[in-house]
Amino acid sequence: MSVIIFAESTDGKVKKNAFEAVTYGKKTAELMGTSCKAFTLGLAENANELGAYGAEEVYNISDEVFNNFDSQLFTRAIADVFNQLGGTILILANTAMGKSLTGRLSVKLDAGCVSGASGLPQNNAGFQVPKSVYSGKAKALYNISSDKKIISLMGNAIKPEKTGSAVDVKSLSVNIGTPAIKVISRKTVSGIVPLPEASLVVSAGRGLKDPSNWGIVEELASELGATTACSRPVADSGWRPHHEHVGQTGVAIRPTLYIALGISGAIQHLAGVNNSKVIVVINKDPEAPFFKAADYGIVGDVFDVVPRLIESVKKFKASH
Ligand code: FAD
Repeated sequence: MSVIIFAESTDGKVKKNAFEAVTYGKKTAELMGTSCKAFTLGLAENANELGAYGAEEVYNISDEVFNNFDSQLFTRAIADVFNQLGGTILILANTAMGKSLTGRLSVKLDAGCVSGASGLPQNNAGFQVPKSVYSGKAKALYNISSDKKIISLMGNAIKPEKTGSAVDVKSLSVNIGTPAIKVISRKTVSGIVPLPEASLVVSAGRGLKDPSNWGIVEELASELGATTACSRPVADSGWRPHHEHVGQTGVAIRPTLYIALGISGAIQHLAGVNNSKVIVVINKDPEAPFFKAADYGIVGDVFDVVPRLIESVKKFKASH
């Protein structure tokens, strides 16, 4: 009986969400009185660091076939590793990759699953996992009654905690059969923290009026080291790329700070962002619904407020 973490890696490095998953796995293992083991698929140079976050054992399956993502292949490999390591609880990140794996793994392992967990499980009245529901307006506890269990964890739901030191990575082999898919090419956006992992997000809506006005959004994001996002009509109009669209039909995020510029705060937008720790809204309409969800609000014109904000950030950085 063990808690097993599938640690995502990309471009040869273990991702931040993997450290979150291991921290979560360690605490879950403590709750269940069992051990916590982690593994990576493909190249993951810093896999040993997973030990510092609570994995007692770390494994890597180095076959280069895993350097590109194939949901069917990864499902077979993860299920095989889980069984080889005597797993009872599998934890993975609720990313695009995690979302495409969780359902398949649930069927393959005959395991009950909660996808998008927002906090640590409880083990009082059965094994229960918390999750935000109704567009973040309520929290539900899901009971997993099957012997094997799967939890996919929302990004930024837990802070990675370094509690120990790195461990030696052991190798493992898996039986995956012949891949049905061949990845011919892969294009990734580089140089920015992907939205689901971002701690700081600067987002803008139709209030910006024209795509040529996005300079102030990008400059504020760049000064803060934040990732940019947008409302759906902005992406639908082709003003910004679709991967920036947040909300019910876009990416759901949980950053530490979400700054919304010229966004009304429609319920479908809030559904993807209202788990942010701190929300700052800048809107010229004092009646904009977003102010009800905001921790801090500025009633004002973005073209007046944002340049002043950028100057203040620059001054602050220069003096600290
Ligand atoms: P608007 O509603 O046009 O608001 C613009 C805001 O900017 C206004 O509040 C205005 O006061 C303010 N403003 C204007 N000029 C300035 C200025 N100079 N300075 C400061 N403020 C200014 N939307 C999403 O975002 N994400 C989703 O995932 C999503 N999914 C949807 C799913 C469904 C099924 C449906 C029906 C809708 C969905 N929508 C989604 C659309 C959503 O209902 C809203 O229409 C959308 O979020 C509005 O975008 P917006 O706030 O950018 O634009």
